[in-house]
Amino acid sequence: MRYSEMFLPTGREVPSDAEVISHQLMIRAGMIRKLTSGIYSYLPIGYRVIRKVEQIVREEMNKASAQEVFMPMVQPAELWQESGRWEYYGKELLRFRDRHERQYCLGPTHEEVITDLVRNDIKTYRQLPRNLYQIQTKFRDEVRPRFGVMRCREFGMKDAYSFDADEAGAEISYEKMFAAYNKIFRRCGLKFRPVEADSGSIGGKYSHEFMVMAESGEDAMVVCDKCVYAANLEKAEVSVPPKVNITEKDWLPQESVQTPNVRTIEEVSDFLKVSPRDIVKTLIFNADGQHCAILIRGDQEVNEIKVKNYLGANELELADDEMIMKATGAPRGFAGAVKIKTRIIADYSVMNMVNFVTGANKEDYHLKNVNIGRDFKVEAFADLRVAEKNDKCPRCGGSIQFVRGIEVGHVFKLGTKYSKALKASYLDKDGQEKIMIMGCYGIGIGRTVAACIEQNNDANGIVWPMPLAPYHVIVTPVNVNEEDVFQAAEKIYRDLLAEGIEVIFDDRDERAGVKFKDADLIGIPLRVTIGQKNLVSGNVELKNRKSGQTTIYSLAEIVSEIKKNIAEGLNPPAKQPPEV
Ligand code: ATP
Ligand code: MG
Repeated sequence: MRYSEMFLPTGREVPSDAEVISHQLMIRAGMIRKLTSGIYSYLPIGYRVIRKVEQIVREEMNKASAQEVFMPMVQPAELWQESGRWEYYGKELLRFRDRHERQYCLGPTHEEVITDLVRNDIKTYRQLPRNLYQIQTKFRDEVRPRFGVMRCREFGMKDAYSFDADEAGAEISYEKMFAAYNKIFRRCGLKFRPVEADSGSIGGKYSHEFMVMAESGEDAMVVCDKCVYAANLEKAEVSVPPKVNITEKDWLPQESVQTPNVRTIEEVSDFLKVSPRDIVKTLIFNADGQHCAILIRGDQEVNEIKVKNYLGANELELADDEMIMKATGAPRGFAGAVKIKTRIIADYSVMNMVNFVTGANKEDYHLKNVNIGRDFKVEAFADLRVAEKNDKCPRCGGSIQFVRGIEVGHVFKLGTKYSKALKASYLDKDGQEKIMIMGCYGIGIGRTVAACIEQNNDANGIVWPMPLAPYHVIVTPVNVNEEDVFQAAEKIYRDLLAEGIEVIFDDRDERAGVKFKDADLIGIPLRVTIGQKNLVSGNVELKNRKSGQTTIYSLAEIVSEIKKNIAEGLNPPAKQPPEV
């Protein structure tokens, strides 16, 4: 493509809401433009990168025996009512009515539609397993759209859905997608890690997020230094501490102390001159309308997702003042396990504590020298806290690190959640009716592009890895007004085109500096510079955007040299160990 004919508005200006580098560079490099909050247009160069990701995704999905379909974005309310999500999904679901007052939504995901499709046409075990995918626009009315296309409202997603006859089959389908995702993100040239993710009430190990490592990422994760263990912080397990032998001889007599207006752990610790490690924090939660006390050591933080999963709750939040009063008989700030009127579940951090401080369930009072067994009983000890730096890897005992990442993909074993609700059944070998087992697998296309820029940029702009680069080469004549320079550049451009190479010819009558800046900003991996000085001896210069290295080649060699560079960039030697 000739630069002079391209719609490629580059610039220095960045909108004030562009907090992360990928958002800034996508605007500056003329890849995207905002239409309205969380809704973007892709300009030609941005769309080419989108198509590259889509193509890699398509190839790997097809290789994994998934088949491409295309489902509607507008979905009828009835289907969502059947699955129970019409009410449950909340405000992210954009609902609207047609002229007949029928209700619809814009699909934020397609479990309902695909399950409907499959239940109508798959009837026997002979038609299973099947894996169907699409690359399609989703709409989610996100509370706070931000970071450009990384968290927007309208975005492209590849979503695949597997249907199996039994658990064993579903596990194989999951493993196949897991392997395909590793290939996809490796081929995109990303540094990533699959991490164990929360799978809500379904539980088990059957959810992994594919995280692109980036400081700007919204997700915190825990990774082991020694083994492959990696988990989203929401899910990161904390091992059970070894049990310390505590006997009645260790117990001091319980005391009630007046603590006027002393409520928080910090205040209690200051007032009673004890460390937060000697205090047991009692949090009252509202789990689906029922109260429950969660105990945790004063210096630790409760992981609400773990609590929610432990209790099997649909909705979990901290109790309001009224519920706290009901459960404890006291206002907020004085809850404690002794004589409390609710269930008590304790985090493992409390298991070995003796003679600790808690609230007294009485306004302005705390208790000292409280002990489990003598003063109260707990229903169970469980892993309910947020992992922290000093914790050890739950698999190998090695030390763990906290890193940040961007979730670009998610593989999830759904089980029978949707197939049961929508009655997607089949007849097995014995003519018995069985429910299909499902899995779902998503990749955010635009988010993958943005994540790639987060990992591949420098002070001058984007540094595309070859597989995602919108064009592989830019041919830059230093001065288009010098006939021989222009002719030589044009010939290289035509030769590259003839070889099927994706190339831009910067034929603009601009200063060389301006052209070099643009080429760097849009991140084209290879730049051929044609200038008078080299041309007199029949040479041109090839510059590698990533390494910054420049090499002189003859006019005769340049095309084959470029081809070699592109091939190397597209198929990097498998030296880099897969980041799994
Ligand atoms: P998040 O936790 O970031 O909101 P999610 O868990 O809601 O994501 P999934 O339902 O698993 O996302 O969707 C599959 C993929 O779609 C995600 O891994 C991500 O790459 C992409 N995605 C999800 N929400 C957005 C969004 N608002 N903007 C861009 N991409 C998104
Ligand atoms: Mg997710």
